[in-house]
Amino acid sequence: MSALRLARLIRRVGRIAEPALPAPLPITLPAPLPADPPTDPPTDGRALPSELPSELRGSVQVRHVDAGSCNGCEIEVGAAFGPVYDAERYGARLVASPRHADAVLVTGVVTRNMAEPLRRTVEATPRPRVVLAVGDCAVDCGLFARGHAVVGPASSVVDVDLEVRGCPPEPEQIVAALRRVTGR
Ligand code: SF4
Repeated sequence: MSALRLARLIRRVGRIAEPALPAPLPITLPAPLPADPPTDPPTDGRALPSELPSELRGSVQVRHVDAGSCNGCEIEVGAAFGPVYDAERYGARLVASPRHADAVLVTGVVTRNMAEPLRRTVEATPRPRVVLAVGDCAVDCGLFARGHAVVGPASSVVDVDLEVRGCPPEPEQIVAALRRVTGR
C-alpha cells in the first residue's frame, strides 16, 4: 500500500481505539508496623520490623535459592505465591535474577556445591536487602545435620535477617515473614 493511500485510509477511518482511562490515583504506602515492645525480643529468629530496611516497605522482589532442599519447602514457597495464599497481594514478588531482587529466600541446607552460588547470589543482590532462611534445614540444618555434603545452615554462609521454622513451614508462615518485610 502506498503512503498516500494509507494516509487517505487513516483519514477516512479515523480513530478506532477506545480512549485511555484516567490514570489511577497515587498509591499511599501503608504506615510502618509498630515496633515490638522491648520486653518481647524475637526468640524465633525473627528480626524486629525496625531492624528491617524501611526502603523495602510496600514492595519486595524476592530471589529464591534452593541451597540443598528436599523440595518440600519449594512446594510450600510455590503455594505461598500461588492463588490461594497470594503473597503478591502483600507486595512480595518472585523474580528471576538477584540483580532485580531486594530479598533472597533460602531453602534447604547449604550443600558444598551451593555454598559459593548462594554467597554470590546474595552479593549480587543490591543493598538494602533482606535474607530469609525458610524451613528447618535453612535455619539449623534440620534432618540433614551432619550430612557429608552439608556445609551448614544458611547463616553459616550469609547473613540471615529472618528465619521461618517448620519442616516444611506452612505457606501462611512464609507469607507472614514476607509481610514483615513489606509491612502490608
Ligand atoms: S525443612 Fe523439611 S521440607 Fe524443607 S528442605 Fe528440609 S527436610 Fe525438606
